[in-house]
Amino acid sequence: MAAKKPITIIGGGLAGLTLGIGLRQREVPVKLIEAGHYPRHRVCGEFISGRGQESLARLGLLDLFAQAGAVSARTTAFFSATKSTAPRSLPSPAVCLSRFTLDVALAEKFRALGGELQTGTRAPVEDISEGVVRATGRRVQTGQGDARWFGLKIHARNVTLAADLEMHVSPRGYVGLCRINGGEVNICGLFHKCADDGGGTNHSRDLLRGPPGSPLRERLAAADFDENSFCAVAGISLCPQRAAARAGICVGDAITMIPPVTGNGMSMAFESAELAVTPLAAWSSDKSSWNTARETIARDCDAAFARRLAWAKWLQRLVLTPALQNPLVAIAARSDRFRRMAFERTR
Ligand SMILES: Cc1cc2nc3c(=O)[nH]c(=O)nc-3n(C[C@H](O)[C@H](O)[C@H](O)COP(=O)(O)OP(=O)(O)OC[C@H]3O[C@@H](n4cnc5c(N)ncnc54)[C@H](O)[C@@H]3O)c2cc1C
Repeated sequence: MAAKKPITIIGGGLAGLTLGIGLRQREVPVKLIEAGHYPRHRVCGEFISGRGQESLARLGLLDLFAQAGAVSARTTAFFSATKSTAPRSLPSPAVCLSRFTLDVALAEKFRALGGELQTGTRAPVEDISEGVVRATGRRVQTGQGDARWFGLKIHARNVTLAADLEMHVSPRGYVGLCRINGGEVNICGLFHKCADDGGGTNHSRDLLRGPPGSPLRERLAAADFDENSFCAVAGISLCPQRAAARAGICVGDAITMIPPVTGNGMSMAFESAELAVTPLAAWSSDKSSWNTARETIARDCDAAFARRLAWAKWLQRLVLTPALQNPLVAIAARSDRFRRMAFERTR
């Protein structure tokens, strides 16, 4: 039998590592190039929900989550400046795990399966050739418009939550709180850029603590922050893109980023990686062309994600429109229908 052709994956985040694992399970030679080093903190709500959990199960990776100490999330509650909902059951349970733990666990699994992992190397992405997959995460936007969002994250102890996932909305954006492994709580927010955002670390902490007098500020009053876990990202674009419009083969956020308020980006990273395994393994075995693999992956990803991206775009606009925040939380407090619909349509 002819030797299988090797595949290079650029980017060792969730999408790249999951794809690498899936390909190694088919005995495809894989080299993965990652710019950073493991373990590392990432700006992420660390709340995994939706069909990605089914992809993880099919790839035999759910045990890895359990061994890493993942925490199950079953309830959620919403808070605005003046309104709140009681804790309610999530339509389906989510899994919460620190990216500090998760990314390194996936990297170790990839290596254990015989994958070659090169860290601390930034690969060129301008000209991606045959045999190379782009899993480089979100594309940094430097212009105006949708690039006005930035994200912050920190872990803390000594925070008692009313629900497994709490969402706090404010005119500046939102902050999600969820329990993660190791008895910590993840505090992660997406914020709208403002002219007075030059205040450095203290200003960032203040944004994550919420406006004075808010339920969020109260919740974090006694929090013991893990300063090493603090991280930030800027230049986030939330305009949905189609995989078919991308040059080359992409997985995860390199295709498009779903608004983080949905808590579905990691799921899309796992799902797109799983969708890419069979077409890439076929190319590696000379059973199809690179272009056929590219078209199949793009078609399947667009079919899986187009509807939820469209719903997520509107959900993001609604939730982050300051004048709508109190009325929306009031509606969610009275009826579970809006919350369930928003959850299900964005997954
Ligand atoms: C504020 C915020 C909150 C979020 N909350 C959630 C949540 O609660 N739930 C959820 O499901 N999703 C959430 N997400 C989204 C989630 O983090 C992403 O969808 C997910 O990380 C995408 O995985 P990825 O592998 O595509 O990209 P990443 O995890 O970003 O990985 C990309 C990797 O590529 C590497 N890289 C980039 N360029 C190169 C290069 N040229 N050469 C080598 N390596 C390179 C990077 O170092 C990085 O390790 C959130 C995002 C933000 C911004």
